[in-house]
Amino acid sequence: MQIFHCNHCQHLVFFESVKCLFCQRSLAYLPDADTMIALDPDLQGEAPGGARLCRNYVEHSICNWAIAADDPHDLCVSCRTTHVIPALDDALNVQRWFRAEAAKRRLIVNLLGLGMPLDESAPGRGDGLRFEFKAPDGQEMIMTGHLGGTITLNVDETDDVERERRRTAFQEPYRTVLGHLRHESGHYFWDRLIRDSDHLEDFRTLFGDDRANYQAALENYYALGPANDWQDRFVSAYASAHPWEDWAESWAHYLHIMDTLETAATCGLTLRPRRSDEPSVALTDLNKGVMRGSFEAAIANWYPVTYLLNSLNRGLGLPDPYPFVLSDQVVAKLRFVHDTVVAARASFEQSEQHSLPRAA
Ligand SMILES: [Zn+2]
Ligand SMILES: [Zn+2]
Ligand SMILES: [Zn+2]
Repeated sequence: MQIFHCNHCQHLVFFESVKCLFCQRSLAYLPDADTMIALDPDLQGEAPGGARLCRNYVEHSICNWAIAADDPHDLCVSCRTTHVIPALDDALNVQRWFRAEAAKRRLIVNLLGLGMPLDESAPGRGDGLRFEFKAPDGQEMIMTGHLGGTITLNVDETDDVERERRRTAFQEPYRTVLGHLRHESGHYFWDRLIRDSDHLEDFRTLFGDDRANYQAALENYYALGPANDWQDRFVSAYASAHPWEDWAESWAHYLHIMDTLETAATCGLTLRPRRSDEPSVALTDLNKGVMRGSFEAAIANWYPVTYLLNSLNRGLGLPDPYPFVLSDQVVAKLRFVHDTVVAARASFEQSEQHSLPRAA
């Protein structure tokens, strides 16, 4: 993700900010312009240029996005993808919903940045990518997962204690709400970009045969655990459960890389290794747009960035934020994700051009 400035005083602000701590103006992110706008206190909640605040911003302080003047909806492009929320009479659920939406907004910006469609009311695609945020009610078992375009999140995953308990119980080095949503979006885009495409055979060569019994594969994984040599072939232990999970884990990992690398590039990050053969960060040409740059440039810069990320955290006594080692085979899978995204983007952009009304 890029970095943001308050457009009133040019102070640095975060993507999640709702107020500029320098000039005290309220802020809103306008996805159409990928920019953070400061609200004029005289305009009573209306944003400059006729943009309006998302209804979930005004009524629930759940969202910090704005809606462009020519967009007729009262919910922003991210909030519109949410179709189920937990019962708000429980204050804990308001907080859970807030955390789920905050993670989702980052995912949505990643997807739009990569040129991936949300398929909102696209012909033949139902409602496109949909999210259901459900709280456990003691009756129905809520599984986080994806089915036919709907991503369900059990919002107890947004509770830090509960998530950390599961992370430890499952011996996972990394477990976050954003990671869950990125992973599940991977299943959506497998259906969308691989299942009925020319890439299916190449997918099977690299990831294995997706026709393997999914339920049996998961049961097997939970009963026996991953193969001893999983690190040679998979980005995570769970990726070894089934080719679909391998793809979803690789897809999520690709989003981790692209988002973080874009931030590093926008900040002008550099690293000065002592040996000239050690990787340094050469992010200047990535400034043109990490999301649309080459895979080689991205992966070459990724190693030094992760070194820095982990070193900074160690300085604060925190665990490594990037507890992964990428084998050659995993890098090949990430390259496949990248190539799939590039090819899909080209075809989406072409079909968009064709569907534009022609000038007389
Ligand atoms: Zn400001
Ligand atoms: Zn919103
Ligand atoms: Zn999955």
